[in-house]
Amino acid sequence: MNKKALHLYNTASRSKELFTLPQDVPEVRMYACGPTVYHYAHIGNLRTYLFEDLLRRSLEYFGFKVRHVVNITDVGHLASDEDDGEDKMEIGAERTGKSVWEIAEFYAKKFKEDLELLNILPPTVWCKATDHIKEQIELIKELEKKGYTYRTSDGIYFDSLKFPKYADFARLDIAGLKSGARIDLGEKKFATDFALWKFSPTDKKRAMEWESPWGVGFPGWHIECSAMAMAHLGETLDIHCGGTDHIRVHHTNEIAQSECATGKQYSRFWMHGEFLRASSSEKMSKSSGEFLTLDTLIEKGFDPLAYRLFSLTSHYRNYLNFSWDAVENAQISLNSLRKKTEAFIGLEGEIKSVDARMWSSKFSACIGDDLNSSAAIGVLNLMFSDTLLPVGEKAALIREFDSVLGLNLLKAPEKAKHSAEEIEKAEALIKERNAARSAKDFAESDRLRDVLLDMGVIVKDSKDGTIWEWK
Ligand code: AMP
Ligand code: ZN
Repeated sequence: MNKKALHLYNTASRSKELFTLPQDVPEVRMYACGPTVYHYAHIGNLRTYLFEDLLRRSLEYFGFKVRHVVNITDVGHLASDEDDGEDKMEIGAERTGKSVWEIAEFYAKKFKEDLELLNILPPTVWCKATDHIKEQIELIKELEKKGYTYRTSDGIYFDSLKFPKYADFARLDIAGLKSGARIDLGEKKFATDFALWKFSPTDKKRAMEWESPWGVGFPGWHIECSAMAMAHLGETLDIHCGGTDHIRVHHTNEIAQSECATGKQYSRFWMHGEFLRASSSEKMSKSSGEFLTLDTLIEKGFDPLAYRLFSLTSHYRNYLNFSWDAVENAQISLNSLRKKTEAFIGLEGEIKSVDARMWSSKFSACIGDDLNSSAAIGVLNLMFSDTLLPVGEKAALIREFDSVLGLNLLKAPEKAKHSAEEIEKAEALIKERNAARSAKDFAESDRLRDVLLDMGVIVKDSKDGTIWEWK
């Protein structure tokens, strides 16, 4: 066994900690905040899911079994994280002229397709906020029973000052907030209080609303994640992740409401992916509608895995600046990696020699150091130039490293697929060419060979006849 220990940066302690599981826990209980499906995911969002995939693959590489849960937020995420504004899903429905249910299905499907193109492993469980209204109501009832809630004219709120640890996670300055300039709180008692349940407006019917003990309405965004995470993973999670923007409000609120309801620690580790920053000309904001999608990259001729490699070349806790040149360079690096690994496709082998074990150990040390993927890629590149390594062992090392990197380095390139019409057209031209050859019209036969070549068809003549294949 060459693997070193796995250390992960825990946002809660602001330090790297050795990751282990409690003795009676057989698998890592991992929850990742999923997308709000009112628009396409942008490549910034996708960077966060790439980080979470790296985490999941790394845990498995270190021998842990992982139960990975990702939610789909299809209700309750308001335009502002502070419980103001319209529901983002309703904004999306107005923009597209479709129903909220239709757009939820459309964008969730598109999101899953993006993940597949990026070779992101599907989670063990996908769950939807609208499928867990009952669990959310139960959680709010529990908080109400324990005295953590209060009612205003627009909803049921969490009384954040009743949770003494509220400020700890995000290092909030509660005293400063208390003494600071008064912002308009409406009926809220304190600035950090947040909605658990919002009432439907009296003057219009919402597209999504449910009965509850407090009146018809819909759940707050924060309660969704707590309810779904606990429904699928139990009251304590091992790792909860998301983007850094979630630290201050969303995750702080998740901790407050979950720990007040259960009296237990909500998550042992908290991990956050830093933002992808767009150049000034290309903003990355889902709500403004100005952003780059994976489709835009594909349209420009990039392989989705070049974007994956681009993300892996920086540490997940650092900002990553997007530029077309950087993606171009990632594509060049991916092509070069593929050239180097091509000869190993299909080769069997095992990591046995001291030399191979040394490379494996170097790689795991990088990943074990809070998922240092760029250093791990450096080890992969250096390993290629080790002339002492037997090819089978090199193949085994590439396979092992790629189980974490997910670049499909040992996957045979897919043969282009051809439609029935293309095949029919090729066969018709071959027939025509055979007729020209029989008539000894070699100029025409050569012309048709060139036409076929342009179509990607290679023709081979032999004494047994003509055969053809796609290039
Ligand atoms: P949303 O669909 O807006 O709820 O966001 C989905 C995920 O993407 C969340 O985990 C966010 O923290 C994350 N996210 C949003 N913007 C960016 C960005 N520019 N770079 C990286 N992650 C982001
Ligand atoms: Zn969440």
